[in-house]
Amino acid sequence: MSIYFDHAATTTMLPAARDAWLAATETLGNASSVHGAGQAARRLLEESRERIAVRLDADPIEVVFTSGATEAINLAVKGLWWARAAGRGAVVLPDGEHHASMDAVAWLEAVDGAAVRAVPLDPLGRIRTDAFAAALTGAHGPGSGAAALASALMANNEIGTLQPAAALSAAAAEAGVPLHLDAVGAVGAVPVSFRGLRGDAVGAAGLAALSISGHKLGAPMGIGALVVSRAATLVPLMHGGGQQRSLRSGTQDVAGASALATALEIVDDARETDAARVAALRDRLWRALRAAVPELELLGDPDERLPGNLHLHLPGAAGETMLFLLDRHGISVSTGSACQAGVTEPSHVVTAIGRDARTAAEVLRITLGRSSTDAEVDALVAALPDAYRRAARAR
Ligand code: PLP
Repeated sequence: MSIYFDHAATTTMLPAARDAWLAATETLGNASSVHGAGQAARRLLEESRERIAVRLDADPIEVVFTSGATEAINLAVKGLWWARAAGRGAVVLPDGEHHASMDAVAWLEAVDGAAVRAVPLDPLGRIRTDAFAAALTGAHGPGSGAAALASALMANNEIGTLQPAAALSAAAAEAGVPLHLDAVGAVGAVPVSFRGLRGDAVGAAGLAALSISGHKLGAPMGIGALVVSRAATLVPLMHGGGQQRSLRSGTQDVAGASALATALEIVDDARETDAARVAALRDRLWRALRAAVPELELLGDPDERLPGNLHLHLPGAAGETMLFLLDRHGISVSTGSACQAGVTEPSHVVTAIGRDARTAAEVLRITLGRSSTDAEVDALVAALPDAYRRAARAR
């Protein structure tokens, strides 16, 4: 039996999304062609864009399809930077962000003169709005004056902490700074309204862009989207046929778009019931694991967290060893952090919440999803205590 607790890495494809995907591949035609076949593809594409816009509470023209969230985030971060500040200015980025934004910003720092203003996380992994607002205006940190842009996660993908996205967006609007939100983990777990998050923002300031990823929602890998406010100006990463407001040239993935729209609708319709069920399952898992191994410690915000996220510190046991031992039982979990040449790096998120490097190498990210079952929880509860004792002996 394969037992899967890594839904934050990628989740089960929804049968209806797969059906929509396959059905769309039967449509011959490039959505940019003017003949009937092209127009049929275009209709399906634009219908999908509209369905996604409805669910994210945005205008269809604001939905830009990409190959996934990494591309969407790169487009947002580099696009906003090049439009406003190429060669000078500051980027606000909280600690503990996903590598897609961290590394895009680090690249701008190394290659294009960006000054990076970090915002510390509190011990539960929350971005403090006052510190974020101070970084936006330049009250502290490198670079002078208002930042060129800011980017932040809506929900931390490792420790599951939900961020105060509306307050961050309001702070950005107030400071006149465009903001990108990475909504990859949040969509399907908490309400995400682009219009709502933009609030009273006018023009280019405030929430400018929001990224999502298909394969985290039950759509196939290789499709995602960046919602780009009509008022925002971004320089594109790619140049070519001028598709999608010239923000993302390239023949559009009609089948991926159709599958993404289908998955998003299903996940959004079931959001409240799924979130409650998954959180109850997660809480039962946590109670049972803690009863069996009292040393375990829950990291992240115990209340304001993603419903499927259980992030554990296992004192004295390397997360990597735990991962291998559980894998032998057919149980997939994650350490949450990047793996370079087969070696897991200590989690930069765990050090960002003030813990030492040793602790950062002793963590497991256990993530549940809509296909998680009681039987899977029972199997992990049965396997983890022994794996923990063995891993602790080996360290
Ligand atoms: N942002 C977050 C929070 C993620 O969890 C991921 C996936 O690991 C990404 C961005 C990148 O998404 P994609 O796999 O679609 O490139």
